[in-house]
Amino acid sequence: MASRQKLLVVGGGYVGCDVARRLDQVMDVTLVEPKPAFLHAPAMIRALVEPDLLTAATIPYDGLLREGRFVRGRVAALHSKGVTLEDGTEIASDFTLVATGSSYNLPFKSSAEDIEVFLDAHRTLSDRIAQARHIAIVGAGPVGTELAGEIATARPDVQITLIAAGPNPMPDLPERLGRALMNRLHRLGVKVITHRTAPGIAAGMDAQDGPLGLSDGQDVAADLVLPALGAIPCTDLLSALPSVRLDGAGRVVTDAWLRPAPGALPGLLAGGDMAATGDAMTIVGTLRQTPYLTKTLRAAAKGKPIDTQTPYRPWREAPMLVPVGPRLGATHLPLPGLLALAGTMRGPGDTLTRLTKGRDLFVGKYRRLLGAQRFKGSRG
Ligand SMILES: Cc1cc2nc3c(=O)[nH]c(=O)nc-3n(C[C@H](O)[C@H](O)[C@H](O)COP(=O)(O)OP(=O)(O)OC[C@H]3O[C@@H](n4cnc5c(N)ncnc54)[C@H](O)[C@@H]3O)c2cc1C
Repeated sequence: MASRQKLLVVGGGYVGCDVARRLDQVMDVTLVEPKPAFLHAPAMIRALVEPDLLTAATIPYDGLLREGRFVRGRVAALHSKGVTLEDGTEIASDFTLVATGSSYNLPFKSSAEDIEVFLDAHRTLSDRIAQARHIAIVGAGPVGTELAGEIATARPDVQITLIAAGPNPMPDLPERLGRALMNRLHRLGVKVITHRTAPGIAAGMDAQDGPLGLSDGQDVAADLVLPALGAIPCTDLLSALPSVRLDGAGRVVTDAWLRPAPGALPGLLAGGDMAATGDAMTIVGTLRQTPYLTKTLRAAAKGKPIDTQTPYRPWREAPMLVPVGPRLGATHLPLPGLLALAGTMRGPGDTLTRLTKGRDLFVGKYRRLLGAQRFKGSRG
């Protein structure tokens, strides 16, 4: 039997795990990732007020691959024959998929080798939230909005102020979704201050002590300030290659087949948050990319050149599910007419969001994908 083509996957996030798993029995797969466990980001928000979820959402990589191998390490350099890890180990590959994702402030995401640092930061913030009387959340994107909803549901005695730069949460999506989320937040007693920013708070900052100064000079008398200002793409590995360019959002530009350096390294592909795929930096965005990358790599491994295959087409309009606590929420459905309304209507929108995401935040799905046992304490 001919030996299998070697696939090296850099980064065990949503893209890396899914593609590695799908090709495990087709190619000779090696997945390189610094952490010993996958951290399921959507659940890290609720886990701050429901600590059992922290264990359920920390999923060891042991069960992911049956035939391929998982290597704990950090890739330091890419070259035409494979990669070099930080400790100097060389790993050969025929194809390399870079999926190094993005970073977010602790304790929502981490790529640190020592997972205890992440878990300690999570428990510490959970304790601070339990003691706080007034919490200000800066940023009304999906993380800030969900965080406000989760804390307000679990701690109705705490005053919560959410700072939104636009007129509603999630201003980049249809206004109907933003209005529906505003309605849910108000029902939970969250105060939303719109059209303001917090000049002292930047993306990547960890939790701060209050009070919080706003752009109009007003102070919010919070004792705890939680920044939720978005993810930062992790592009260091690819940026080190001379032909690689970043777009305005700091993501790596690729060709139509998701290759960041087709001239120098034609067997190098990229996906997920760090790549300018045309999709948003969301897991939902990656759901179109992983079947595409799998199909392309499978055909390439059989000898079909990548640039003779079908180019990647991103989501024209992706759905967006935003739980506001375990029971409420709203969903943007890219469907025509009345069907689209259902996701934001009071009642049906809450039920739809709860049944699709709010109930278990996909913990069950990702535990199954990583071959982990069902977590008894989780609703997954
Ligand atoms: C709190 C929070 C909640 C979220 N909730 C949702 C949600 O509900 N729905 C949704 O659609 N999106 C959500 N997102 C966004 C989602 O998490 C990202 O879109 C997703 O993680 C991107 O996946 P990825 O595979 O590109 O990279 P990542 O998941 O970021 O994974 C990248 C991996 O690469 C590893 N890595 C980095 N550098 C190296 C290296 N040099 N060598 C080896 N490995 C390396 C890292 O350790 C990491 O494991 C949320 C984000 C946050 C922060």
